[in-house]
Amino acid sequence: MRKKIVAGNWKMNTTCQEGMELAKAVVAKAGEAPANVGLIVAAPFTHLCCLSEILEGTRVELSAQNCADHASGAYTGEVSVSMLKSVGCQWTILGHSERRQYYGETDEKLVVKTKLALEAGLGVILCVGENLDEREAGKHFDVCKTQIENVLFNFTAEDLKNIVIAYEPVWAIGTGKTATAAQAEEIHAFIRKVLADKFGAQVADDMTILYGGSCKPSNAGELFAQPDIDGGLIGGASLKADDFLAIAKAY
Ligand code: PEP
Repeated sequence: MRKKIVAGNWKMNTTCQEGMELAKAVVAKAGEAPANVGLIVAAPFTHLCCLSEILEGTRVELSAQNCADHASGAYTGEVSVSMLKSVGCQWTILGHSERRQYYGETDEKLVVKTKLALEAGLGVILCVGENLDEREAGKHFDVCKTQIENVLFNFTAEDLKNIVIAYEPVWAIGTGKTATAAQAEEIHAFIRKVLADKFGAQVADDMTILYGGSCKPSNAGELFAQPDIDGGLIGGASLKADDFLAIAKAY
């Protein structure tokens, strides 16, 4: 049975103190989520050290939102995977569309980052998804397939056990426009088929594929009821503990 996960991507929001309060509120309510749903919070780098103390011994796991594409050295301003491990991080998001769009995150860089993260023992939440032009041109299947081929096809079935995919249509991120459950399911099933063709049916069946893009308590239930949607990567709604847990409860 593949893992169900609800992960909150805080993006560049909250001061460290606000983040600590938010993490405490998530921990306090975490018991409301079904026991089989993994909970993850992806916080800014500055918060990780303090948050790992708050989350230690709880069911809520800690993620970064990015990592460096080098192991160490003269890369001013970057944060390495070993630094993330040293503060108790268990995961990192990679390839979020905001990083692809604003920070030149290419599939080539994502291969390097994914390799470094896995070697360091971090789980990876790899984001894929099409933008509005690509959706309107009917290229969404091709775009997701290419992103998956370019990154994940460089890894083994064993590596994939520590990778989660997040399908996030760019046109639905932070816009209030959610993909319909049918639109999301169609792509999730397609992604699973792409994985099955390369790695075999069992590997594809075991892969957790999250949906992200304006997911909120009111639409999470319908999205998570789809057979190939295994949870969500939640942006805006993860900044309120009540909403985040209400989404997790939608299972
Ligand atoms: C995200 O940033 O990963 C995301 C899904 O954002 P939102 O939920 O705000 O659309």
